[in-house]
Amino acid sequence: MRLSVALASVLVLAAALSSGQTSDPGDILARIRTEGLQRSRALTLYRTLTDDIGARLTGSPAHMQAARWAVDRFKEWGLANPRLEPYEFGRGWQLEHVSVEMTGPRYVPLIAYAEAWSPSTKGVVSGRVVYVGDKTASQIQAMSAQLRGAIVLTHLPLTEFVDHDRPQPGLDERPVATGNPSLPQPRSTTPANELMALLGKAGASAAIRPSAYRDGTVGVTGNRATPSDAVPAIVIAGEQYNVLARLAVQGRPASLRVELRTRYFEEDRNSYNVVAEIPGQDPMLRDQVVLIGAHLDSWHTASGATDNADGAVAVMEAMRIVRALATGPRRTIRAALWSGEEQGLLGARAYLSQHFNTPVSRDQLVVYLNDDPGSGKTLGFYMEGNREAKAIFDRWLAPLRDLGATRNIIEGIGSTDHVPFNEVGLPGFNVIKDFSAYDERTRHTNADYPERMSEDDLKQSAIFIATFAWQAAMQDEKIPRMPAK
Ligand SMILES: [Zn+2]
Repeated sequence: MRLSVALASVLVLAAALSSGQTSDPGDILARIRTEGLQRSRALTLYRTLTDDIGARLTGSPAHMQAARWAVDRFKEWGLANPRLEPYEFGRGWQLEHVSVEMTGPRYVPLIAYAEAWSPSTKGVVSGRVVYVGDKTASQIQAMSAQLRGAIVLTHLPLTEFVDHDRPQPGLDERPVATGNPSLPQPRSTTPANELMALLGKAGASAAIRPSAYRDGTVGVTGNRATPSDAVPAIVIAGEQYNVLARLAVQGRPASLRVELRTRYFEEDRNSYNVVAEIPGQDPMLRDQVVLIGAHLDSWHTASGATDNADGAVAVMEAMRIVRALATGPRRTIRAALWSGEEQGLLGARAYLSQHFNTPVSRDQLVVYLNDDPGSGKTLGFYMEGNREAKAIFDRWLAPLRDLGATRNIIEGIGSTDHVPFNEVGLPGFNVIKDFSAYDERTRHTNADYPERMSEDDLKQSAIFIATFAWQAAMQDEKIPRMPAK
């Protein structure tokens, strides 16, 4: 009896040594939690990103500032190889000034933003608006004399506004539809691309379109391929646009005063991902990588707080926490803060083609964990149809329930940086977060400010990612894979 107990202890000890685990796994998870709750840097990081740096459009000086700042934090925390990794992006852009004022029939300052990569107006432009929202291409061509130098209203008055969030999939056991919701969009009689080309030919001074959000919220994105000689493009609050469009339809067009100044950056056509790691300790496993990431870039009209400073902070703070444990993981844990997400997942795609472009290299990537859509607490992961991985993730989620974890769901979510991993058959998963006010109010809008995240949410999200990264770096088996999709 005594002998068998002793033998069992020896076997347990041998198993622990051979797996490289020098401490009780439960103990390490408790230390992750303590570090994340009691010595958190999450709120400080979040304030720096959102208040001090602000919006971080890819290619802008602000994005570079954020990327360099992140490298410095990773250095400060003693991570290995903190670096900027370039890929070709195109020219940068920055907004320097925008003002749109109604000057007749009465004075009203309008809530207005430039589309990203729009050129400037030629100084201050004033005049009565010309409305073409209800005009066909041939009608617009016939108006070209009237459009020369004009401030043009390009879209129909809005009748349908963005007024709801997508359903929250993390909260109950029903099967759910996931992915980005299709939101109402402003409409024009002539398709927008064709319309802008016609306005360019006619020599219009500025094009104004509505945002489909409510109550002064303005959703704005932009196209980095916009030529320097395009018509300057401005988006204004939907309700204000409707006033201008209705007056114009009634034959009493309002007068506007418009000034837009923007700046291009041509010298460096690269953008940069931020990468740093915690080297693995197990000689057999340290070449394998557990990758965690989030996009650091944002659109340009607010602070990029819920999209996606909260995700970037969760990943940074998770790395700080794991580094602070003073015991190394078996596999390498690497963090990537992507750029170019908002222009088509460009940073993540570039990284995959730079580093994981062969079957051998892809075999080394154990899992990619991404933190993007939504805000608030992390509830679980979207499992992208991967049932075997879900069984493992369900085990890892269990000890986080008292911190607000609810469930992993088998469905997937599109439109963020794990997608290119899935496209080449690598296991990539995104966290489930709260969507309260995310679709309706903050995502890609002038209302994306930090108040939608609490300090507790930031801490919890970081602990969540750190816990999953640690588990993935320690267990013997790799995460099961699915065919490329
Ligand atoms: Zn986004």
